[in-house]
This record gives sequence, C-alpha cells and structure tokens, in this order.
Amino acid sequence: MRNCLIVGIITVLAFAQNACAQSRGTVKKKRTTETAVIDSAQWRKVNNIVNRDSAYANPYYGIQKLKGGNQRFQLSKSIYPRQDPALIKQLSEGQLPFATIVGCSDSRVSSEILFDQGFGDLFVSRTAGQVMAQATYGTIEYAYLILGTKLIVVLGHSSCGAVDAAIKRPEAPPGHIVSLINAIKPAAIKVQKMQGDKLENAVRQNIINQVMELRQLEPVLSRAYDRGELLIVGAVYNLSTGMVEFLEETLQNLPPTQFSKNDITGL
Ligand SMILES: [Zn+2]
Repeated sequence: MRNCLIVGIITVLAFAQNACAQSRGTVKKKRTTETAVIDSAQWRKVNNIVNRDSAYANPYYGIQKLKGGNQRFQLSKSIYPRQDPALIKQLSEGQLPFATIVGCSDSRVSSEILFDQGFGDLFVSRTAGQVMAQATYGTIEYAYLILGTKLIVVLGHSSCGAVDAAIKRPEAPPGHIVSLINAIKPAAIKVQKMQGDKLENAVRQNIINQVMELRQLEPVLSRAYDRGELLIVGAVYNLSTGMVEFLEETLQNLPPTQFSKNDITGL
C-alpha cells in the first residue's frame, strides 16, 4: 500500500514536471514568434518606426520619427522604446539625442510620453509657456554644438495657462511671473483682432514667434539655420486628443539644406 502511494506520488510529480516543461516550450515558442513579428519590416512600417541613427543624421527623419511616435501614442500603441533600466549603463558612456524639444512645463505635456520615445532620444528644455532666457539659449546651443542635435522643436500646447495669463495681463503679478507674461505678450497682442479662439490663436502665434526667435539667435543658431545645417520648427500639442500638429508656417520657405527629403513620408 505504502509502495503504491510512493509510486503514485512519483507519477504525479513526473506528469507535472512534463506538463510544466511542455508549457515552457509553448511559451518559449510563442515568444520567439512574437519577436520575429516585432522585428519584421511590416511591423516597423505599421508602427511608424524610424531608425534612430537616420533621425539623428537627418532632422527631416527626426520629424517623421516624432510624428510616428505621437501616432502610436494617440492610438494607444506606444512601444515605450529604450526605457529598459539596462540601457542606463550603456547610455552613461554618452548621448546622441535626435531632437531638442523646447516645451512648456505643464505636467500634461511630457515629451517622451507623447512622442513615445525613450532614454537618450530627446534633449528637453521646459519653462512655462516655453519662454526662453539666456540659460535656455545656452542649453539649446549646447545640444547643437556638443551633442550634434540638428532638430529643434518648439512645442506649445492648447489651453496653456502662461499664454492665458499674457492675454488677461493681471495687475501686479507676483514674483517673477511678470517675466513670462512680458515674453508672451507680443503674441497675445498680435492675435487680439483675429477671428476664432483667442487663446488658441495666441498659443500658435507664441510658438511661431519663439521659432523666429531661435532662427535669429546670434551667433550659433542663426548661422547654422541660415546654412541649412539645422532645422527649427514649431508644433502644438492638443491636451484633449493627444495629437501633435507641426505648424505649416514653420515648415515652409526654409533655407536650402544638405539634408535629403527622399523617402520621407508624412511631412
Ligand atoms: Zn503651458
């Protein structure tokens, strides 16, 4: 009886181990298949994947990479690239971000999330209303000169509180907030007689003004921009839909450039 019990237990254990091994085999096989799909050209096309090196070398590919990432984000198909903690050690050797983002500090406008990018991809400067000062200029120049980042995107967003304050211009704003209002005020004044939503018009005009500010910034950015070695464009993020729209006004009449636009779609 006792022998029978032991044989029974061994049989059950052997069966369980076999079942477990088979299960592991199934999982392993399934993962292998998934990896093959993920690496396929078709998967890359469907998910708007743009090669990182191409985006770093050519700012037009950089724009395409940002657009593709934003599309994934909007469709809830983010792939969260390069967010593995193992990458931290590798990136400690250096960084080659493919875009500089000059954005608003608003907690709802996180560049890596809304563009579905990862560690080492974006060099980001954020202030309220993406207002720039001396330190911001130096930050952006550093990205271009030292890190070789050839794409600068001024990223504003809908319903921006800083732009709203520049429209309303409260009397005696506290502390240093007045510096934000003063910087955005020209955009608010320029659109005040324009048809449509006053705040959204001012948001767009503020972005266009800031793009021009960087294109004319002596001595580093203006020269690089005029020589066609650097792309400086504007975009607006919609807080309600998650969509980033690159502003046509900032993509037209650009100086002649060495960068090829061949095989680039969706610009
Ligand atoms: Zn804002």
